[in-house]
Amino acid sequence: MSMCAYATTVAFSGLEARRVDVQVQIAGGQAGIIIVGLGDKAIAESRERVRAAFASLGLAIPAGRVIVNLAPADLPKEGTHYDLPIALAMMAAIGALPRDAMDNVVAFGELGLDGSLAPAPGALPAAMAALGMGSAFLCPEPCGAEAAWAGGEVIAAPSLIALVNHFRGGSALKAPERGDLISGEAVPDLRDVKGQEQAKRALEIAAAGGHNLLFVGPPGSGKSMLAQRLPGILPPLSSEELLEVSMIHSVAGLLERGRLTRTRPYRAPHHSASMAAIVGGGLRAKPGEISLAHHGVLFLDELPEFTPQALNSLRQPLETGEVMIARANHHVTYPARIQLVAAMNPCRCGGGPGAGKCRRGPRCAAEYQARLSGPLLDRIDIQLDVPPVTAADLALPSPVEGTAEAANRVLHARGVQGERGLGINAALDLDSLEKVAAPDAPGAALLSKAAETLSLSARAYHRTLKVARSIADLDGAEAVKRIHIAEALSLKRQWAGAEHQDGLARVS
Ligand SMILES: [Zn+2]
Repeated sequence: MSMCAYATTVAFSGLEARRVDVQVQIAGGQAGIIIVGLGDKAIAESRERVRAAFASLGLAIPAGRVIVNLAPADLPKEGTHYDLPIALAMMAAIGALPRDAMDNVVAFGELGLDGSLAPAPGALPAAMAALGMGSAFLCPEPCGAEAAWAGGEVIAAPSLIALVNHFRGGSALKAPERGDLISGEAVPDLRDVKGQEQAKRALEIAAAGGHNLLFVGPPGSGKSMLAQRLPGILPPLSSEELLEVSMIHSVAGLLERGRLTRTRPYRAPHHSASMAAIVGGGLRAKPGEISLAHHGVLFLDELPEFTPQALNSLRQPLETGEVMIARANHHVTYPARIQLVAAMNPCRCGGGPGAGKCRRGPRCAAEYQARLSGPLLDRIDIQLDVPPVTAADLALPSPVEGTAEAANRVLHARGVQGERGLGINAALDLDSLEKVAAPDAPGAALLSKAAETLSLSARAYHRTLKVARSIADLDGAEAVKRIHIAEALSLKRQWAGAEHQDGLARVS
């Protein structure tokens, strides 16, 4: 006679947690555990962890063939969180747990060899999926504070034996409390930056309209110091954004003790980081830096030093707000709506005009800058030269205004854009741009003259308009005026290479 039992868990497809039924059948025949249903290597190794955990409880693995089926079979499954549902279903099959214990329960967690439960990434979306199925969520104790954010019933256990006692009615486990929600995290202040008035202003404009930004300047001009201060002047995450950001960080295993924060993410991968680290993927599908920066800031220092593949992989997310990762036999999509801040030296050797360190002349700068493709630069609305910090700058008293003041102005400008209902200025399409950013007569005259003398491409022209709209929003002005156009034009750099003459290459 064969014995059957089951448990329920989830499989991740991007941030989506889909129901997976774990069916266990113990049949006659040669002893052994067989797991079927498109599982990865971690799931195959689950056998050994379950075996050891059973031994730690003094339970014998059933004699005979144990078949574990993960259904639906066509859904790819990755990760270590299948240990717990497999173990529970096996325990139910041999009568170590009541048969109905797994009714209306989603089980999730990795097993230690000693029968302890170890955290696995993705507890938040998994707990939300459990709630959606009308089930309680069963997870390792360290995941409890994170899972509790989903709002459903959560049972968090330190070990398999604690769970057994819970289900046998011996000692009930207490429901875990939600982790902390941080709303005013300490971030570096703009007041720390002396001098660099135009760069600070550019940062505020970028924050106001959600524009991507590139700083070009010699080492020591404070480019990364400026970039680090952008999250502080951006408005806090809305509740909806907070949920999305937290789900991504959960799937990446980065939500420590279920702690959520309203401060926008700031990620700064090094240029030597692998493609998988930047865009996502790897051994187990995991969100990359570009998704960890979702609704926040991705800072890429020394932009031309990133591999051409990495730079190329930014184009799709910058366009669509999503990144698609190829797996063995399927694709995974993660959100990646980022604000890009990039920085670079004017040339490879770090000198460049003004710094007096480059010994190779203008060709050095031209070659270095040519590593950036036109289509990438096309998505960066503000491109600015940042001069070196001088001794005189450092002797200045601390600025009167800092992050708090800038954040207030940005919040106001975002409010104006919210009322228009067309999204942030950086994302305006051509129709909307014509509607809301058409400059007044003197502004239009200045722009068309600049377009002619600087031979602006259509794209550069539209980028200038978007930035001018943000400047006008910061100014509280309904119409885009000449002064706003003039400032937007001052935030456009002249590129050294012929292929970058108007700020974008003619490559497509
Ligand atoms: Zn050089």
